[in-house]
Parts: sequence; C-alpha cells; structure tokens
Amino acid sequence: MSARFQRTMMKALGATDHIMTVLSVTDLTPGYRRIRFSAPTMIDGRETPTASFVRLWAPDPDDPDKVHQRGYTLVEPDAEKGEVSFDFVLHQPMGPASAWAAAAQPGDTIAASYYMFHKFEPPENPEGYLLMGDPAALPAINAILEVLPPEADIVVILQAHLPEDRDIPVTPHPGAEVIWTGPGTNALAEAVPVRDWSNWYAWVAAENAAIKVLRATLNQTHGFPLTDIKHAAYWIRGKAMRLRKESGAAEAEPAPLPPPPAETVAAREAAPAKPRWRSQRGQELLDSLRWKLRAAGLLQAIISLMQLAPLVLLAELGRRLLGGEKSWDALSPLIIWAVVLYGAAATLSAVLMLWLHMVDAGFGHTLRQSIIAKLARLPLGWFTDRNAASVQQAVQEDAGRLHYMVTHAVPDIVAGIVTPVAAIAYLFTVDAALAGLLFVPLLAFVFLFANMMRGVADKLVQYANWTKRANAAAGAFIDALPVVRVFGGDGRSVRSVLEGQASFINGWQRPMAGRKVAAQLSIQPPSFLLLIVAVGSWRIISGRMEAADLLPFLFLGTAFGAQITSVLYGFVPMREARQAARRIGDLLEETELDRSRSTGVIPPGPLGLRFADVSFGYRPRKPVLKSIDLVLAPGTLTALVGPSGAGKSTLAGLPGRFHDVTEGSIRLLASNGEIDIRDVTPEALQRSVGFVFQDVRLIGGSLKDNIALARPGASMAEIEAAARAAQIHERIVAAPRGYDSIVGDEVRLSGGEAQRLSIARALLADPPILVLDEATAFADPESEHLVQKALGALIGRRTVLVVAHRLHTIVHADCIAVMQDGRIVQRGRHEELLARPGLYRDLWQAGEKRPPETKAPEPETMAAEGKAS
Ligand code: ADP
Repeated sequence: MSARFQRTMMKALGATDHIMTVLSVTDLTPGYRRIRFSAPTMIDGRETPTASFVRLWAPDPDDPDKVHQRGYTLVEPDAEKGEVSFDFVLHQPMGPASAWAAAAQPGDTIAASYYMFHKFEPPENPEGYLLMGDPAALPAINAILEVLPPEADIVVILQAHLPEDRDIPVTPHPGAEVIWTGPGTNALAEAVPVRDWSNWYAWVAAENAAIKVLRATLNQTHGFPLTDIKHAAYWIRGKAMRLRKESGAAEAEPAPLPPPPAETVAAREAAPAKPRWRSQRGQELLDSLRWKLRAAGLLQAIISLMQLAPLVLLAELGRRLLGGEKSWDALSPLIIWAVVLYGAAATLSAVLMLWLHMVDAGFGHTLRQSIIAKLARLPLGWFTDRNAASVQQAVQEDAGRLHYMVTHAVPDIVAGIVTPVAAIAYLFTVDAALAGLLFVPLLAFVFLFANMMRGVADKLVQYANWTKRANAAAGAFIDALPVVRVFGGDGRSVRSVLEGQASFINGWQRPMAGRKVAAQLSIQPPSFLLLIVAVGSWRIISGRMEAADLLPFLFLGTAFGAQITSVLYGFVPMREARQAARRIGDLLEETELDRSRSTGVIPPGPLGLRFADVSFGYRPRKPVLKSIDLVLAPGTLTALVGPSGAGKSTLAGLPGRFHDVTEGSIRLLASNGEIDIRDVTPEALQRSVGFVFQDVRLIGGSLKDNIALARPGASMAEIEAAARAAQIHERIVAAPRGYDSIVGDEVRLSGGEAQRLSIARALLADPPILVLDEATAFADPESEHLVQKALGALIGRRTVLVVAHRLHTIVHADCIAVMQDGRIVQRGRHEELLARPGLYRDLWQAGEKRPPETKAPEPETMAAEGKAS
C-alpha cells in the first residue's frame, strides 16, 4: 500500500494530520531516545486515552519523496502547553523512523496522523493484568501501569533486544512483577510463567512474528481465550528493517513461524487444573445455539433465493411479452412458478420465524432459570448494590438483547447479503455494464459516510463531556431548589451550561445534516432508479442493450443499496447481544457457596461461636481479614470496634456464610462439641445465627409478614409480643390496617421504625446467636431511644456479636475486640483497654473530644440493658 493511500484510508477513519516541531531530545538510555514535541494542533485539549498512539510519517533516508508510517505511543501529553513526547528505540541498523529520531534536532518537524480508536480497554474486574512487549511497546506499558489501580495484580514481561534495554525505565507499580527476557521470536512466549491465569487479561504488543507465537502460546498452553488477549503488532521484522536488507547488512530472515514452545511434561503437570475465564461462559451460552442458528441461516438463504425467483420470472415474462411472445402455453409456466415459489417462500419464512421464536423461548427460559438457580447458590455477601444492578441488567436488558439475536439477527443478515448478491449476479447475466454501474451509488455512500465520520470520535468525547456537565449542573440545581425557592436565585449557571451544550450540538450537527442526507439519498431506491433509467435509456438508444433488458433492472436493481446497508446496521445489535451474553456469562461464573458438605443439624440449646485462625479476602491474594482468633462464649456480648475499613462488618458477616472463609474455620460451640458452619444445612444455620443490620430491607408484604419472615407459622400473639418488645407495636396499630397494612402502599416506616421492625423480626426468630450492626445516630432522638431499648430486649441472654460505632454503648461488653487492618490488635474489657495505651484508648479519647452534637444524645448502653432484661 502506498503511503498516500494509507493516509487517505486513515483520514477516512477519522484521523487528523498535524505537523509537530521538536523541542528537546533526551537519551533515557544509550539506545532509547525521548523526543519532546510541540504539537498544538494535536494536543489541544482533546482526550488522549491511555496507550493511544499516533502514526508518524518518517521520511525515507534514501528517497526524499517517500515516507513510511510508524506507530508511536503518546508519552506525557500536556494539553495546556500542546506538547507531547515519543520514545524511539535506536537499535542498529535503523528503520526510517529511528533514523529520523537519531538525527533529530530541536526545530525539526515531522508529520503525524492522530486517531483515537486505539485505547486500553480491559474487561471489568479481571483477576490480573499480563502486560507483555518489547522496548517499542514500553511507552504504552508504562502508560497502562500508571492508570491501573494500586491493588491490581500485574505481571509485566519485557523483551530486551540488547542488554542495555534492561535499563529503560519501567513505571513502578506496587502490584507489578517485572520479568525481563532476551531476544528471539520465541523469547516472550517462553517467559510466560506456568500458573493459573484464570480470568487474567493479556495485553501484548511486540514484533509481529513474536506476537503470533505469543498468542498461540497464551491460548494453547495457558488457556487464555483469544478474546481476552488484546494484541497489537508494533512492528514487522522484515518490513521495519527494509533499509538494512537493501544495504546488504543482512540479518537472517526469521525462520518460518515456529510452533508454540513445547512445554516440558513437568511444567504441564505443575500447571493448575484447567484455567477458566468468565468470558468463556458467555461464549458457551451462545455455543448451545450455534447449530440452530446455522440451520436458520441456511434456510433463510434458500428462502431469500425463493423470494427473489418470482421477480426474476416476472422480469423474464416482461421480456418475452416485449419480445412479441403471445402464446399462453409459453408464458403460463413462468406465472405459475412465480406464484408457487412466492407462496412456498412465504410459508417457509413463517415456519422459520415460528421455529426461531420457539428456540428463543426455550433458550430464554433456560437462561432465566439458570440465573435464578445461580442467585440461590451465590453467597449472601455477593448481593451488593452494584451486583444487584448487574442482576437486574442481566435479567431485564441482556436477556432481551439475546432475543433479537436468536430470532431476528441471523435471518436479517443472511437475507441482507444473499438477496442483493443473487440479484446482482443475475443482473450481470442480463447486462454486465449496467449491473456494474449499480456499485456507483454504493461507493458514493461509503465515501460520504466516511467523510461524515471524520473527527466524529473527538466530537463524541466532547459530547459526553457536555452531557456530564449538563447532568451535574441540572442535578445540583435540583438539589439546591428548596434553598433557591426560599432564598431566591435564578439558576443562571445551569442555564449557561445547557446553552453551551445546545450550541455545541448545533455547531456539530448542523454541518453534518447536509452530508447525512446526501449519504442516505445516494442509496435510496430513487437514486438507483434514476441511474438505471438514465444509463439504461442511453444504452438502448445507442443500440448496446435490448429495451426488454431494462425490466429486470427496474424490478431488482433499485432496492439493492438499502438491503446492503440494513446488513451493516444489523451487526450493531449482534455485537450488543454478544456483550450481553458475556455479561450473563460473567454472572453465571461467579463463585458459589460450596454446599456439598452442608448436611448437619445443630442441637437445641445455647450456642457459642469460635473464629479459628480465620483469613478472608474478597479477591484472591488480597486478604481483608488476617488470622482472626476469637471466641464468643455462650451468653456473652462481644463488641468489634476499630476504624472504618478495619474489617468489622466483613468479620460480622462470616458466621452467616455471607462469604466463606479463605482459611481457617468458624465453629459453633454446641452442647455436643464444635460444629463447622459449613457442615450444617443453610436452614439450620439461619435458625441459629440471626442478623440485625443498619440498612433494613423490608419485603413488599404486610407488616405482619415482615415480622414473621423467618417464622412464617408464628401466631398473631407471638408476633405482637415481639413487636411490643421491639417498641414498634404502637406504631403498627396506628397504621391504617394495623398489622395487615402493606409496606410501601399503606404505610411508610422511618429509618428508626424499620430498624425496630427488623428487631421484632429477630426477636420472633429467636436465634441463639445474634450479630448486629449497631445503629448509627438517628436524626430523631425519640427513635434512637426506642431502638436502643428494643436492642436491649433483643440481646437478652443470647450470644451477641456487635459491630459498634460508638464506644459509649459497649462499655459493659464482656469482650471488646479492637480491629485494625484486618487483625484484632487489642482485646479485653472496657476498663482494661482504657487503662493501657493503644488504639482503643485513642479511639475513646477521640470520641470524647468530638463536639457534643455528634455524640449519642443519651449514652445508653446495650449491655447494661441487655443484661438487665
Ligand atoms: P469496617 O466494617 O471495619 O468499616 P469492612 O469490613 O466494611 O470494614 O471493610 C474491610 C475492607 O474490605 C475494606 O477495605 C473494604 O473496602 C473491603 N470490602 C468491604 N466489602 C467489600 C466487598 N463487597 N467487595 C470487596 N471489598 C470489600
């Protein structure tokens, strides 16, 4: 491809051209040069995504009229000054870009094309990042290392072509392990450690042949699905070194592509069980449909041909009539066949649709069933707000997107391809010259469309920014409305943002409107009709074509363009459906609670609880709780205190199997010995360990149902007794239909009331062990007082673990465990802890110093009341 053609194509794809001027030249290592450029037209405040690159047009050292394009990653772009750097590898012998860089002086200029389709976009929450490349890829790897969160697990494998490459600076990252390897096409692939890479994301950029070996190895040896390897060949050995070959200083051409390095048996055996990627599950979902969709595609191709045939037959009929044929016997078969094929095609098409809808119904049903079954097997702790949102998306939106793919996408796309291709093939047999002309409007469309899309990526980013600003301004305005209404104010700032947004959209879309219409018009049937009639008439008049031959073109040639573009549009929902399948696959791959051994029962009577050397992390190798040993003797109250993020809530959730421990165990201290909570049935555990949380979830039933949630068979008297003890009875009888009032519709409970209702719920369930997250201060002191009183009733003689936010409430606890950074750093009674220097005393003193209004209005103590009741 000539450089000129490449440039035209890139421009068509939205690239913009710039001239950059060298500001300074710095050698980071002897063979690695950083050049800072002034590029005010390129770095002009537009977004510069991580690892995005430009194409430099490097002059050919031997032929001043020739340029070569090379990709370079943006380094340290400075939008304010309009400056950016690029790093050049100066290995001998040099390619054109390196040769240019080696001679560059401040004031020199070079052309660059910038487009921003290339960026670093890893999937959500990969287990870790495997970044691989050579010195040419290092600027991009460094840029990626800069943006990855500090807790990310990263393995960086770098190839040094020369020993001094190892001195090239690599951006430090707390979670990154950097491995250097030597030269050679296979070196990178061989350097990948054997381990479990499940759910890792690989980002790979190096020399073309090395990339091929690497991808094959990652896929075949380490199990990476190809979809989870992002790869870019930054250079091609033969090509980049073209000048060297011409100058005769030849390095041997690389051998034909070697197979992925064979692994030793030992390494293979050391490898963990088959790794798995969440993305595979989405693919598997679609795989179950594969043969059906293929069959549907094949059938649709036949149907499309059958639908086209009557038009061909009628065109033939017209030609014969115009040719003077008058015999019914000669003409009637054409008509009969046209009618028969038309009817058959319509019937088959209906059958296909019906069948696909049945396939879809079955698929959708199985899918929803598996999602629901999955939800039942997920640990309770999985259901965070974010995950709840992803379930909602999976069930509502993503399942719908798959519906389009199963029922409509394949027939639409196949029909959109087969029909125009068959039609044009037939038209070529009628009159090749006129048939060939039908491509002209299509080419015009492609050209106009590409022209329209120029710079669109930039505009889309600006559009997103404007939308963000407008939303923020509108949100702030609505939040401030009560104040504005009382004290006055005119919302001037929101108006100016909205006006700015409107004028941006106007400035962007107005010039586009004309081009959009032109692009659309070029492929509308009238454009084809005009072309066919005009050129066809001319050909007929000049004796190059029979008049009757115009008929097939009028029948078949006009819808041509619209059909082809409908295919293009059909691919968008296809892609969305694949992404939807991936999201659903992710959900179905979430780690489940292992219930295989949960069969035991728990004897009646008081229970204690023991955390035995418990470690836990939400993600592998990121422990949140470390070696926790804690015993809750039956009938005692234990408080967990400590700074926010110490792991108190995480620890408190473990006895209910919100998550399973990563190491150690949690044991119930029962009359007949210790029982691991993983060994008892979910129902038994639920009856033995109760929870009262700060954020109370109420179900959409009556108040009575809400209290009796854990004991649906409870009598009215028991429910009422629980409600009285929980200080909520009075509120309930004040509701329109008392205990039968429906939550949400007939009665709305305040935060404190909902809390007391949940306490009534726990009282009725009467679990021997209770975990409670102590309420933070409520807005209204009356509610606070009642909640404390209700909690007192609840604690009773149970074994209680309380996550305490205010130390005043737990001064009488039997044991206070002070947590910091996932460990218990101090434990004892209040007086003991207060007597010693340490975190507890610091926390207590900090609480004392707090201004009075943030302190508890009445320092009631749970333990005091609990013990008293
Ligand atoms: P505390 O209750 O002491 O404030 P948490 O138990 O809530 O502490 O949090 C302990 C650590 O675990 C924090 O670093 C927090 O960010 C993390 N964490 C809490 N919940 C989750 C979760 N669902 N997923 C991942 N990390 C979490």
